[in-house]
Amino acid sequence: MTETLTGPSPLPNILEIIPYKGGEKPVEGHKLSSNENPLGASPKVQAALRQSAEHLELYPDGGASKLRAAIGAAYGLDPDRIVCGAGSDEIFQLLGRAYLAPGDAIIQSAHGFLVYSLVAQQSGAEVILAPEADYRTDVDAMLERVTEKTRIVFLANPNNPTGTYIPHDAVKRLHAGLRDDVLLVLDGAYAEYVRTNDYSSGLELAAEAPNVLMTRTFSKIHGLAALRLGWAFGPASVIDAINRVRGPFNVSSLAQAAGISALEDKAFVEQSLVHNEAELARVSVGLADLGFRVIPSVGNFVLVKFADADEATHVDTHLRARNIYVRAMAAYRLPDCLRISIGTVQANTDLLAALAAFKRD
Ligand code: PMP
Repeated sequence: MTETLTGPSPLPNILEIIPYKGGEKPVEGHKLSSNENPLGASPKVQAALRQSAEHLELYPDGGASKLRAAIGAAYGLDPDRIVCGAGSDEIFQLLGRAYLAPGDAIIQSAHGFLVYSLVAQQSGAEVILAPEADYRTDVDAMLERVTEKTRIVFLANPNNPTGTYIPHDAVKRLHAGLRDDVLLVLDGAYAEYVRTNDYSSGLELAAEAPNVLMTRTFSKIHGLAALRLGWAFGPASVIDAINRVRGPFNVSSLAQAAGISALEDKAFVEQSLVHNEAELARVSVGLADLGFRVIPSVGNFVLVKFADADEATHVDTHLRARNIYVRAMAAYRLPDCLRISIGTVQANTDLLAALAAFKRD
């Protein structure tokens, strides 16, 4: 007698999700696949973590009050309108839980950050992709796609993986074109890296509008990706909804202590910024000099477009053979591109040398 084993079935929409695949790390060599901080994290944060590790038996402060107060003080924001999460990824998940149901829709740009789509799929909501104009978010294309089903519009600004941004005026225009019951999420994961004066992370909009939430992360400029720490600032009603659906202790004590210390170490942030500015320029120019098409980036990574998907795969394989891991982009519907994070001076020098060799071979 044969027995058929049938376990519990997840919801049908769950089976349609292609799980997110993070950047791979070579055993030895350079990991340029996850937009991490090549300078590591602040030594002051490491000291704060050691202190925090003395009391692992205690649950964290579920409201992350001291961290929210520190964020509020650093940015001039009301801590009651801030919520913290295990990475900004968790904040997106919580938004899905609080605002999306089957039949609803989200809008994001065609090559926008992938996690938004995964969040929508989990809730059975539809993902509407707005085409981009030369790898940049096209506000009109987004607005044209708004329907009565639209619940959330997600905008990564700057965007990952394209590295491009839209100026504050364009963000304001996007907001002005949305109904008040559509939530506009302004994801500023790379906000600190932007040096142009027509840019804003959306803080002012999130302070004033009833339907704008700004999200930020400690994973990039603060170099704390391992700890999973992000936060959001927005209308009291949206923060309240997130607080209702989040786990009671969603941010660990270690992450909270690290976040407070990271905000204090302004010198480390400045050093990271200076490094990125110089190396982003060096890598971008170096790649262009080798004849590669680089999409102009304001983040801590660059998107490089090749002749076709085959060439992108050849370059990827060539770099991997030299223990330099970058990110393939098929999941972002950019199979002819690779995304390369800005690394240490040595990593970037090795990258450019490896690509020069590719051109010669
Ligand atoms: N938004 C964007 C645009 C990102 O690129 C990333 C990280 N890859 C995140 C959000 C998530 O960051 P975290 O969950 O580490 O805060």
